[in-house]
Amino acid sequence: MFVTRFAPSPTGPLHLGHAYSAILAHDMARAAGGRFLLRMEDTDLERCRADHDAQIQDDLAWLGLTWDGPIHRQSEHIDSYNARLEALDGKGLLYPCSCSRSDIRAALAAPQEGVAFNLYPGTCRHRSMASRQPGDALRLNLAAALDRLATADLGFTETGPAHAGHHRVDQPRALDQIGDVVLCRKGEEIVAYFLASTFDDADQGITHVIRGEDLHDFTSVQVILQHLFGLPTPIYHHHRLIRDELGKRLAKRDDARALAKYRAEGATPAEVRRMVGLPNP
Ligand code: GLU
Repeated sequence: MFVTRFAPSPTGPLHLGHAYSAILAHDMARAAGGRFLLRMEDTDLERCRADHDAQIQDDLAWLGLTWDGPIHRQSEHIDSYNARLEALDGKGLLYPCSCSRSDIRAALAAPQEGVAFNLYPGTCRHRSMASRQPGDALRLNLAAALDRLATADLGFTETGPAHAGHHRVDQPRALDQIGDVVLCRKGEEIVAYFLASTFDDADQGITHVIRGEDLHDFTSVQVILQHLFGLPTPIYHHHRLIRDELGKRLAKRDDARALAKYRAEGATPAEVRRMVGLPNP
């Protein structure tokens, strides 16, 4: 059974880029006779809002997309993410980090184009979990994690146009380019997007992850996490990004391209499909 999902963060209105991602995932699931799930990635309680959540559902329904089963809201599963963090701690793979709050906050959010990870120099790596202070972040000791996976295959399949084929996480490259990622910041119940998303993909039985090319670099760390927890690795499909006239990827702040604005101006769902280069069913 083909199971995929659309996983927006309700921090702003959907724009044409989200519409493309959602329609593509929906159409692929329906063409395969599979399931299309909706997940709200709303762990950042400061930035996520109920009105955006409602607007997203309204926009998707207007586009003619139907999702299967109830909406999965990450804010309702914080205990399960914390239990997984404890399990990582039990394996000796975490350490507390008190480096700059803004660096850490930037590291937790979905990425700006081209900057997936800020390589961490390892300042706090010597610290034990017993030295953890309120407000410390938790980092994954990647070298220790990879040591545990020394004999693992770490393979994954991509079907997206830019990376189609079978790949393997390159361990030296991961150490050089990903490093000791931040997994959560305590006190604010914010777990890193890629951590929560890895567990949800497994818990929701996702077989195909269909998402934007901007998230491609997270795949390696997600595959590493899957192996640490004995979770299945889905097939990944990273799709092209919808860009503005200057070639910049659309972001939530691009209100000018919000679906709500096109709707208000009288566009039809068929026109939105055409605008993003997708066929009408
Ligand atoms: N929540 C992420 C975003 O809005 C997408 C997560 C994913 O598809 O893996 O960028």
